Amino acid sequence: MTPEPNAVVHDVLARLAEASRAGLTGVLNGSGILLHTNLGRAPLAREALDAIDDTARGASNLEYDLSTGRRGSRYDRLGPLLRAATGAEDLLVVNNCAAAVLLVLDTFARAPDGSGREVVVARNQLIEIGGGFRLPDVLARSGAVLVEVGATNKVYAADYARALTPRTALLLRAHASNYRIDGFTADVSGAELAALGARAGVPVVEDLGSGALSDLRAYGLPHERTVQDAIGEGIDLVAFSGDKLLGGPQAGIVAGRSALVKRMRANPLLRALRVGSITLAALGATLRLHLDPAARERIPFYRMLAAPLDALHARAAALAARLDGLDLRAERADGYVGAGALPTAPFASVALAWHAPRGGVDAAAARLRCGAPAVVARVDGDRVLIDLRTIPPERDGDLAAALEAAG
Ligand SMILES: *Cc1c(COP(=O)(O)O)cnc(C)c1O
Repeated sequence: MTPEPNAVVHDVLARLAEASRAGLTGVLNGSGILLHTNLGRAPLAREALDAIDDTARGASNLEYDLSTGRRGSRYDRLGPLLRAATGAEDLLVVNNCAAAVLLVLDTFARAPDGSGREVVVARNQLIEIGGGFRLPDVLARSGAVLVEVGATNKVYAADYARALTPRTALLLRAHASNYRIDGFTADVSGAELAALGARAGVPVVEDLGSGALSDLRAYGLPHERTVQDAIGEGIDLVAFSGDKLLGGPQAGIVAGRSALVKRMRANPLLRALRVGSITLAALGATLRLHLDPAARERIPFYRMLAAPLDALHARAAALAARLDGLDLRAERADGYVGAGALPTAPFASVALAWHAPRGGVDAAAARLRCGAPAVVARVDGDRVLIDLRTIPPERDGDLAAALEAAG
């Protein structure tokens, strides 16, 4: 089949534009997915960027105790803030949630002789998050022995209880972040599992992923389990991401009982998973915004969630009027939280719909992606859709210029 000449030209242009970009570049996220893993997940708050500027531009107290003038620990920098935000006794910050889970397994599920100890997981929680992170594979890699309990749709506390042996290292719970099992189901609550673990003297760990610190019902979304929920139910260690519902930089946090966190601190693997001052500065500033409910919407993720539909509609109408050479119309669209959170709960948003673009919708979307700034849009039928909830209002001028150039 001969390729369509237009398609060849666009392919060449796209490759040239890609090649001429020096590595990473900012893009306008018109996807309507608030936390898009391929687009860098959570945008940072002004306060987080200022904190990076303040600490990374020069030297910082990353591993230096200013009160004693002696060596300090980077792992203690955010202790008070994270304890206040989560209610946990102690915690550690590592590179991402996957690293946090790996560190937990390596610390507790590897026996001194190198043989694996048993980690009990329900069959309905053997998750794959994406990017090749599959719980059974991570368990195998850590040397732990996976003990599956229950059935795909039903798991009972008695299933866990029967699986306990002297070799049981952990009861592991994984948050169903990117999927749902509907129908005839039964599950064991965090509180039930925590009680079972406490009776048996086996730590209960939860891979929470999303890392919500606030109740999303305030934004009209279904309840998403929070870190405080898990800690409050008595889960011994909770692992979560910094750049999902927390709205901060890429990081993984393990929060929980101090005796367990202390053992993880002594694990030599921690050195390979540690974070630097840029991450800690941005995470600290984001946590400070969480601690003040009036400041929460200074975090871009919450600002995007809170944007009223009529404001989005007015922006779409203004852009359409300004670019009257293109057939642009405001259109209701579905937005998603993304990053594996609330996968089945779309919320109302507004897209700028570009009808009948020159050369067809795919070519127009490609021109937008290769423009300056690059705009990531969605193609739906005969329109290119640019969701305005995920584009900061102060970038509407840039979006107009990109549309004009792509028109
Ligand atoms: C997203 C997610 C992870 C991985 O988090 P990263 O910070 O991307 O490593 C792990 N577990 C769950 C349940 C998740 O949702």
